[in-house]
This record gives sequence, structure tokens and C-alpha cells, in this order.
Amino acid sequence: MDGCIFCKIIKREIPGSIVLEDDHVLAFLDVMPVNRGHCLVIPKGHYETLQDVPDSELPGLIRGVKKAAKAVKKAVSADGYNVQMNNFEAAGQVVPHAHFHIVPRFSGDGLKLWPGGKYREGEMQELSKKISSLVGQG
Ligand code: AMP
Ligand code: ZN
Repeated sequence: MDGCIFCKIIKREIPGSIVLEDDHVLAFLDVMPVNRGHCLVIPKGHYETLQDVPDSELPGLIRGVKKAAKAVKKAVSADGYNVQMNNFEAAGQVVPHAHFHIVPRFSGDGLKLWPGGKYREGEMQELSKKISSLVGQG
């Protein structure tokens, strides 16, 4: 898509530190790494969020995430990694081309995950019913 920075990296119109490319995905280092080795895995087609990615592209995409994650972990001798995807602006998505972050983690690196909250009495059951009734709808 014209104007999309990640499509430009796919088309080599702007530089990217590419670590993996196949028919379905491209993976490259994030220019502002949370930890060194932080990389992004993107589908080759321009889809804004996870829910825009066609089902047919999902297996290739998640395979790319797994391949890149294993290589990144080895390359920086990480103790683990987080795989995160921000969908929509409210969730912190800045670049509107779907992407998975792979963030290498090191024991004691001090990064905090999000805090856990609480449900009201009965709210959890109510909400799980509502979500399950919507699963599979468009
Ligand atoms: P998000 O907030 O999930 O949309 O993340 C977008 C990520 O893209 C950020 O972590 C940026 O540092 C990264 N980013 C933006 N432009 C580039 C670029 N040209 N090459 C590599 N990473 C980029
Ligand atoms: Zn794009």
C-alpha cells in the first residue's frame, strides 16, 4: 500500500535490517528495540490488524514468528522472549500494517508486563458467555 512504511521495507524502497524473508512474511529488526534483537514479523500483504489478515495467510505468518523467535533467542543468547501484537491505536499500534513484535528477554532485565486486574462477582461468567457467542461471527 502506498505510504505504508512497512510495505516500503518489503519493496526495498527504504532500508530494513531483514532477518527472514519467504513467500508470506518479512522479519526485520525494530529500529527502537526494547532489548537488542527486538524484531518485527509482518505479512507481505498490507493488512492493518490481525483481524484483516486472511485465514490463508495465518499459518505462514505464525510459522515466520516461530522461526524468527528461535533465531533471535539464539543470536542474543536470550533467556526468553515475548511475542506481542498491538492492534488498533488504543492498544498502542502506531504502524497500520499488522506486525508481531518479538522481544528477547533476559533474566532480571527489569521489564514489567501489564498488571492483573479483578472481575466483579459473576462478571467473568457473563463475559465469557458473551465472547463465546460472538466467536466465529464476522
Ligand atoms: P507498534 O507500536 O506496535 O505499531 O510498533 C511499531 C514499531 O515499528 C515500533 O516499535 C517502531 O520502533 C518500529 N518501526 C517504525 N519504523 C521502523 C522502521 N523503518 N524500521 C524498523 N522498525 C520501525
Ligand atoms: Zn503496508
